[in-house]
Amino acid sequence: MTATADDLLAGVARAAQIAATHADDVDRQARFPREAMDELAGCGALAALVPVELGGLELGLDVLAQSCVLLGRACGATAMVFAMHTIQVACLVRHRKDSAWFEAYLRELVATPRLIASATSEVATGGNLGASSAALEPQPDGQLRFDKKAPTISYGAEADDLLTTLRRSPDAEPGDQVAVLTRRGQHELTETGRWDPLGMRGTCSPGFAVTATVGPAQVLPEPFDRISAITMVPVSHVLWSHVWLGIATDAFERARAFTRAGAQRDPAGGDANGRRLSTLLGELSLLRAAVAAGLAELTTATADDDFAGLMTMAAALRFNTLKTTASTSAPQVCWSALAMCGISGYRNDTPYSVGRHLRDALSGSVMVANDRLHATNARLLLVVKDV
Ligand SMILES: Cc1cc2nc3c(=O)[nH]c(=O)nc-3n(C[C@H](O)[C@H](O)[C@H](O)COP(=O)(O)OP(=O)(O)OC[C@H]3O[C@@H](n4cnc5c(N)ncnc54)[C@H](O)[C@@H]3O)c2cc1C
Repeated sequence: MTATADDLLAGVARAAQIAATHADDVDRQARFPREAMDELAGCGALAALVPVELGGLELGLDVLAQSCVLLGRACGATAMVFAMHTIQVACLVRHRKDSAWFEAYLRELVATPRLIASATSEVATGGNLGASSAALEPQPDGQLRFDKKAPTISYGAEADDLLTTLRRSPDAEPGDQVAVLTRRGQHELTETGRWDPLGMRGTCSPGFAVTATVGPAQVLPEPFDRISAITMVPVSHVLWSHVWLGIATDAFERARAFTRAGAQRDPAGGDANGRRLSTLLGELSLLRAAVAAGLAELTTATADDDFAGLMTMAAALRFNTLKTTASTSAPQVCWSALAMCGISGYRNDTPYSVGRHLRDALSGSVMVANDRLHATNARLLLVVKDV
């Protein structure tokens, strides 16, 4: 690992410590994890993927994934905000082609950290990433305008900028989409509901009506179906899975601490929980292996200049399966940890509390509904040769 990667991970570790201190308050109040996000901005983590030629560190996705685990162990919401921002940066870096506007933007991101939110889901199309209802509308002065009703925009009120998916033009098909980056001041966000969810409360993700006017240079040059297949979907599924792994790992560690304390109090009676802990380690290890395999496959596939490996049905199946599997396993690990810690795990005020972990981990299956991904996989499985 290079010195810059080590430096960044040291900064992320500091942010994780801060996140852990505030995690319960962030959760209770459903407030933005400001303290930890400021530390992440200060240590350069928000621009870590930006290429060296644009002044960035150009770190690999493995470092960012490791960061998501570190943060996920401390506070699921902080980790998810960081993951979502990083996914947007990955899309800008890889699909900017030779756009001067996006290159200038990425340079600015290095010099002055900015937080980017995402509006892909839409009230009319739900979590279907591949279809939009709202469209870019050309204006007489050459500008482009849009209105989008988004059911969920995480940290929308806190973000500097917003990456939004839209139909390319008013007469385009729902699947003929582009991604548009708008800066604070160019878009107006009107909250359309409250945010009082079960978990991931600190992501602050209510619905918003978005209205914006932008220049054509702010439309990412590549079509969104390519951005989605090569970057947004696989990077999302890999980074989200690392967040969920971090949450599950901390739940496991709390169950381990509980078991250890029990064994110290009663050396003869600690055996039963010790065996359950061993079984739980097996569950956690399977999750860890799935997440590591997803990252390894993505790293290998992105080493190819044309990303051909990511455009296959088999790759879509595997990254969808990573998401559905990790989002199912992580809450199971948290649930088992809760069962082991009993009332000490169930209560919100003990060192063994895992209620927040369980609630945060449960969000995974509705962050783009697992049912949707299973339906896509079912179609692909009928025709794909190798899985
Ligand atoms: C914590 C959190 C943060 C989020 N942040 C953002 C964000 O910042 N930006 C953003 O754009 N989105 C975000 N989302 C995602 C977004 O909220 C949802 O994907 C979107 O609102 C769709 O909502 P829905 O659950 O009604 O899903 P829908 O996709 O409408 O699905 C609803 C239900 O219908 C069923 N269903 C739908 N389609 C199918 C199908 N084809 N086959 C089988 N069953 C189907 C499923 O049971 C599914 O659960 C976030 C989600 C969470 C949980």
